[in-house]
Amino acid sequence: MAKLYFRYGAMNSGKSTGLLQAAFNYEERGQRVLLAKPHLDTKGADEIVSRLGVARGVDFLIPHDAGLRRLFARHAHADAEGSLFDAEDAVRLAREVPPVACLLIDEAQFLTEEQVDDLLRIAVVDDVPVLAYGIRTDFRTRSFPGSARLMDIAHALEELKTICRCGRKAVFNARLVGERVVFDGDQVAIDGEDVRYESLCADCYLHVSDGRLG
Ligand SMILES: [Zn+2]
Repeated sequence: MAKLYFRYGAMNSGKSTGLLQAAFNYEERGQRVLLAKPHLDTKGADEIVSRLGVARGVDFLIPHDAGLRRLFARHAHADAEGSLFDAEDAVRLAREVPPVACLLIDEAQFLTEEQVDDLLRIAVVDDVPVLAYGIRTDFRTRSFPGSARLMDIAHALEELKTICRCGRKAVFNARLVGERVVFDGDQVAIDGEDVRYESLCADCYLHVSDGRLG
């Protein structure tokens, strides 16, 4: 039986780098992977971009209301050009398209609970390992819905670590305007002109937030 893995961390903890490395490792062994991420209206929406400079297009985007298991099955049975499975092609495709060895999800915090449940079904019922990468909490220190559900049901949790400005492990993501922490705005990240994010330990977060936790 395959497993659902959740690899989580603060921002800038190397999640996309880890995902692209994992994909590379599979492909180096001649295995096929699928890369996907939730559909958001942000720049570079259909790419997975590592801070180290490596980027790669996703195989499919996940609309907010999409049934993820069905979406996965459709792409798992599409040929290299993305032509979708139909009955006449079934035999040819089964011969030409190797099975998917792993499904890799970037920005998994933005999935719905139902979509995370589908990830578990893909692992357990369809027997395809799923590696989901995401941020645990938002800038108000609250869990993202997708991350909370992954914490509930993933077989394996692995924390990816990054360093706070003080040298300790960072766990929170502060939204800053200048040097001031802000607590308003949407949960989904916004690239405003002055808005930036910094990964901080609890101590530094409470220091810059004047003791607030969101
Ligand atoms: Zn710190």
